[in-house]
Amino acid sequence: MLKHHKVSQKEPKDIAFFSSTPVNKIERVESVEGFFCALCSMVFSNLNSSRFLILTFCLFATFAQGQKWTCGAPLDIPLELAGSFAEIRSNHFHSGMDLRTEQREGLPVYCAADGYVSRIKISPFGYGKAIYVTHPEGYVTVYAHLQKFNREIDSLVRLQHEIKESYDIDWYLKEGQIRLKRGEHIAWSGNSGGSGGPHLHFEVRDSRTEQCLDPMRFGLPVRDTLAPVFESFSAWSGFEASEIQTNQLPSIGHFVTGRGASDTLPLEIEPGKLELAVSIVDRYLSGSGDCGVKSLKVFVDGNLFYRMEIRSVNFNTTKAVNGFVPLGIYKSKSGQWYRCSVPKQTPLKEEVSMLSVPVEIRDSLIHSIRFETEDWKGNVATAVGFVQANLPNAPKHANAISLKAGEEKIIATRSGKITVQRESLFDDTELLLFEPVFDSLMPPVVEFGHEGVALFSPVKILFNLNEMTPEQRKKVVVMHGNYSKRKSIGGNVEGNFIVASSSNLGSFTYAVDSMPPTVEFVSQDFFDTDRVAQMKFRVADGLSGLESIRPTWSNQWVYYEYDAKNNAVTVEIPLTPIENETNEFVLKVVDKVGNETVYRKKFN
Ligand SMILES: [Zn+2]
Repeated sequence: MLKHHKVSQKEPKDIAFFSSTPVNKIERVESVEGFFCALCSMVFSNLNSSRFLILTFCLFATFAQGQKWTCGAPLDIPLELAGSFAEIRSNHFHSGMDLRTEQREGLPVYCAADGYVSRIKISPFGYGKAIYVTHPEGYVTVYAHLQKFNREIDSLVRLQHEIKESYDIDWYLKEGQIRLKRGEHIAWSGNSGGSGGPHLHFEVRDSRTEQCLDPMRFGLPVRDTLAPVFESFSAWSGFEASEIQTNQLPSIGHFVTGRGASDTLPLEIEPGKLELAVSIVDRYLSGSGDCGVKSLKVFVDGNLFYRMEIRSVNFNTTKAVNGFVPLGIYKSKSGQWYRCSVPKQTPLKEEVSMLSVPVEIRDSLIHSIRFETEDWKGNVATAVGFVQANLPNAPKHANAISLKAGEEKIIATRSGKITVQRESLFDDTELLLFEPVFDSLMPPVVEFGHEGVALFSPVKILFNLNEMTPEQRKKVVVMHGNYSKRKSIGGNVEGNFIVASSSNLGSFTYAVDSMPPTVEFVSQDFFDTDRVAQMKFRVADGLSGLESIRPTWSNQWVYYEYDAKNNAVTVEIPLTPIENETNEFVLKVVDKVGNETVYRKKFN
């Protein structure tokens, strides 16, 4: 029914009617000196007016308190973004900015301001190799997905690996240990941890509250003249944005390129409380990734309907992103989708300011929806769409389970129970519970709600294991997902039952993991006139996942790197013979339920 034209992403200027061209706000004060000069000339030219002097003094004081600290560029190439601060990601708000590194690793990374190294974290997941620098002005900068550290830091980090006998380290340093100056070379950019391509993840935190802040606030010279582009919007009634089914989306309309607003047919909704969601793409230079916006306003027939502005990102509340987006649409469509209503329950308080004004649509008139947004550099855009109510038909399921946001609910199942925690839901909802019997010899399956339901705190799934032997119980894990997509979510066995926490609803069952991890030899090289062997392996575990990796030479731990996304383990074996020892290389890999695989090799 709707014309599904896509807004041109490369030429936002062409969509004049629907999305405005970039409007540059007052240029940010880039240098402290410039600002002081402006103030000084005002003071001197208005010496006669004492009232003005006081006002000027107040401005001066506010400025001195709030904005004195600035960040230098962490790279010495022009700063281009692949991802913005607070961009919407799966299960979190992006905590920093992703700086492009010319699609390669190994660019020098510089410290953004005077300070000291306060933490070094190395992990095969997440941030990979990361440095945290604390600045005395009350900020911490974070540099993540690094390839390697500078020589001084690297030698100290090697010692930590040896003390811990592990690739994973999380080392907190004291103030005097590694001091840094602004612009000092600290590391080389990389692609370590969960990174999906070479880039530098750069973050600024408030050192007291641990809130992540917009790095552009501190004067980073990131170029951005492109306004955000509105792509699509969705309208419906009768259910909340946090319970959209991924396979039954509400109607979606696309904003038309270069046409008048009246060319867009209204989206049809059932009469009732209006619900809206909108997808916006913000780009920095042409070709950069889909970034997020800072604020959004929505007006229905000219009256404010929803307003939000993102101020910070906090790791304790970052999962609340699932109630901030229309999760069912976000999971099945591309782009940055924003829900245009405040959930009944959300932990986002300081991080995002939100306000919504409910609107009931019970007539058959066409209603206009106007969207306004601003990106992190102050470029703005607008778009207009329409909705209209049709005849009511809203069947409700008779056997649904009613749940209230903010209340705990324990639901008995034939095979155990499900506990929905007080902080699990964003909105009141009704969910269906099925316990289909596919095969009486197989473990029971419980289907509760669907994967589009947004959760903040996980729900708890309990299965009775009465029929299992004690030996089997040690190796059981709870599985989530449909059929071939089932994945282990672990679980704790306590007596006759297993309990697992799940951040998603949907289909649950359990399985016994009796398969040890796989360890596959890939390659072998020798260095340092054959005194060091470097071996590469592919390691994986099909069901419960890996718990530990331990390589040894003659029973002594040896250094290794683990790249989880590529299942790759690289080991450096010092072939120095040790008297009265095995002189054998051993790689022991253990999964989460204790199955182990041991690889052994003797070198001649
Ligand atoms: Zn990042």
